[in-house]
Amino acid sequence: MTISRRTILRAGTAGLAAGLFAPLMPRRSWAATTLSLGSARIDTLSDGNLVLPMSFVTDHEGAGAVMAEFGLSGDAVEPPCNVTLLRDGTNTVLFDVGSGHDFMPTAGKLAEAMDALGVTAQEITHVVFTHAHPDHLWGLLDEFDEPIFADATFMIGKAEWDYWMDPATVDTIGTERQSFAVGAQRRLSVLEDRIVTFGDGEEIIPGVAARATFGHTPGHMAYEIRNGSDACMVLGDCIGNHHLAFARPDWMSGSDQDPDMGIATRVKLLDQLAAEQMRIVGFHLPDGGLGRVERAGDAYRFVAEGA
Ligand SMILES: [Zn+2]
Repeated sequence: MTISRRTILRAGTAGLAAGLFAPLMPRRSWAATTLSLGSARIDTLSDGNLVLPMSFVTDHEGAGAVMAEFGLSGDAVEPPCNVTLLRDGTNTVLFDVGSGHDFMPTAGKLAEAMDALGVTAQEITHVVFTHAHPDHLWGLLDEFDEPIFADATFMIGKAEWDYWMDPATVDTIGTERQSFAVGAQRRLSVLEDRIVTFGDGEEIIPGVAARATFGHTPGHMAYEIRNGSDACMVLGDCIGNHHLAFARPDWMSGSDQDPDMGIATRVKLLDQLAAEQMRIVGFHLPDGGLGRVERAGDAYRFVAEGA
């Protein structure tokens, strides 16, 4: 198993003579980090980043001191968004689809990242959702409300599907997340006739097994990818940042819909990942999201391996 150094992909400058006109062009770049896993290849593609109030992460009174240890301060955080692409020679699988264009101006860059990597939407055979929050789902549809990944099989955990498709959810979720419920239902409804649902532990694609990691949302799933003797876990948001989630995993996270269940899931998973030294991809972890979990005192730390 090897992880390449982070590759900076540039798009839109091909064909320019020795960069002559480059200063006049918008200089945009997209980052991808690559992990070879047996005969398969995993790339994490940047969908951009979010800008969130600190209260969305935690309102714990000790949070400022912990965040300062990570060089972070202030009222806002800007977590990156890493969409995982798995190519095993047979299947080309996207884990989540990013934010699309109507969530935050700083996110929704997946199409550009795929362009830069040379992967087309038509090549995607499967789209697998970790959960249905906006930054993971809202990139689903094009401007005609058709799925961008037109030929893909779409897959989501059954509990997650049932929760967001329940007409009562918009009333029970709370005003802060009401737009999440409306947005999820509108988009998932487009998939109603073709969605494939599954439960905990199921091998949903050869070499990809679902792992129930409820709490962040009621039906959140992580995915264990195995190829030969190598393994990697696509976490989604069950371990949602590189600071508090590792250093204080037993603190409630404002981003978890069921904070107590989120804690139980996080604590158990961190313990396992540290013990097994399994590679992870975190949707909101830094440096492309690839790395592993190490014990640090009575808690943990994220060791990035993609940077
Ligand atoms: Zn997220």
